[in-house]
Amino acid sequence: MTLSPSLVRQLRRAVGAEHVDTGLAETQLFASDGLTLHQARPAGVVYPTSTAEVAAVVAACLAADTPFVARGAGTGLSGGAISDGGVIIQLSRMNQVLDIRPEDRYAVVQPGVVNSYLSLQTRPYGLEFAPDPSSQAACTIGGNVAENAGGPHTLKQGVTVNHVLGQKVVLATGRVASFGGPWHAATGPAFGSFLVGSEGTIAITTEVTVRLVPTPAHVITMLATYEAVGGATDSVSAILAAGILPAALEFIDKLCIQAVEAHLKVGFPTSAAAVLLIELDGDKALNSGQAVTVEALCRDNGASDFRRARSAEERQRLWLGRKHAAGAIGKISPAYYTNDGVVPRSRLTDILTQIYRIGKNYRLQVGNICHAGDGNIHPVILFDPDTADGADRAFACSADILTACLEMGGSLTGEHGIGLEKRDLMPRMYTPADLEQMRRLRDGLNPAGLLNPCKVLPEGARCGEVRGQATLPEGTWI
Ligand SMILES: Cc1cc2nc3c(=O)[nH]c(=O)nc-3n(C[C@H](O)[C@H](O)[C@H](O)COP(=O)(O)OP(=O)(O)OC[C@H]3O[C@@H](n4cnc5c(N)ncnc54)[C@H](O)[C@@H]3O)c2cc1C
Repeated sequence: MTLSPSLVRQLRRAVGAEHVDTGLAETQLFASDGLTLHQARPAGVVYPTSTAEVAAVVAACLAADTPFVARGAGTGLSGGAISDGGVIIQLSRMNQVLDIRPEDRYAVVQPGVVNSYLSLQTRPYGLEFAPDPSSQAACTIGGNVAENAGGPHTLKQGVTVNHVLGQKVVLATGRVASFGGPWHAATGPAFGSFLVGSEGTIAITTEVTVRLVPTPAHVITMLATYEAVGGATDSVSAILAAGILPAALEFIDKLCIQAVEAHLKVGFPTSAAAVLLIELDGDKALNSGQAVTVEALCRDNGASDFRRARSAEERQRLWLGRKHAAGAIGKISPAYYTNDGVVPRSRLTDILTQIYRIGKNYRLQVGNICHAGDGNIHPVILFDPDTADGADRAFACSADILTACLEMGGSLTGEHGIGLEKRDLMPRMYTPADLEQMRRLRDGLNPAGLLNPCKVLPEGARCGEVRGQATLPEGTWI
């Protein structure tokens, strides 16, 4: 678990001695991402500031036959940004917005720019970076690109891949390459798009050209309250079937509502079985007409109460509740595991029924937050890490939920990626031939197998070196 002295020398030469950490305390900080159920301590952490420095670090790791992993803010929820004994390339010093071109609606940013900071910079021009993960106050654009991140407002705007125009990267071989650019150009395969969502296993993004979209001129935010979960999920289908495409269509169930209210008091109804947070944006006249239809559809499907946010402050409070719903679970449980799966929207009622049943089977409480318009579910599994099998039951519960998603024609992930967490479930979704093709693609581009080894695909050159643990080190707080 230590780096060779010659590698440490090379790394210091690449980024400066003060930007290389190999101490126990410093490296332990990087032993997990947001999914602390997986733990692996790197042997070193480096903090580059430029593409050239990243390339020099990669060259040094390749020469020393040592694994390396890019890392943004570490908010990932699938164990992707960890390394057991390798080098973490921590990109937080590459945090500059390099260019904003309002007239051409794009910006060029370094990968360590924090998601919400980018929109703060572009908002004076009436423009936004649309992907808005609930972690946007911390997560980075590089991490968003690697995970193809979504968020509440990607229902209408599309996920990260729809907003990346170009990238500069350091390939796993150490070569620097650029794909795409500010202009739409349909020349050849969209290789830049192929990199989006590759979870840092093919290349390290060092510069991103992102599309900017106009800040909506008019917004209506509504909260529908239900006494039965099925009424809320039926309303989702009814709204979309009516030809309305809300900016956001979010579901929160009773347990998460109660956690939010215990923590933040945003005004969610604590006795409700579920709420839908619905947002319309765009043209004022169109929004106003659609809001009337949405209310009627929600009431037809059993909404017992329906209200519109009357002020920007009220709207912000409702969104605060939604965006902190998973974190608020920390108020009512010593530990929790946020999951991520997808079902066809029409199966939302079925999957939620299954989730509550599966939770009972494992004697675990499960709350639910969904990007409901996308059929993207986030079961939040509460467990006690101090019981012998608490974490194991949480893992098993998660695997059963994801299997149920697959049986309903869904997917293992909507936005959090596969990482280590779901790597071994991939054969439940893909055939051996599918997996072999993916492996060949990855191995062709990551021939030494040293860039983020053993993530996403169940087997690989360096699989033995990074292993997820189903148990927590003593004293770990999630
Ligand atoms: C409370 C909470 C809410 C969340 N809500 C959402 C949500 O609504 N939608 C959503 O999509 N996600 C959500 N997430 C998950 C997470 O925030 C996203 O996956 C985010 O995109 C990760 O960004 P990061 O900078 O933290 O990346 P990290 O966690 O540091 O890394 C994630 C992966 O990306 C790779 N990577 C990072 N930077 C680079 C780079 N420059 N080049 C190549 N690979 C790189 C890493 O190797 C790793 O595999 C949430 C997480 C939390 C904790």
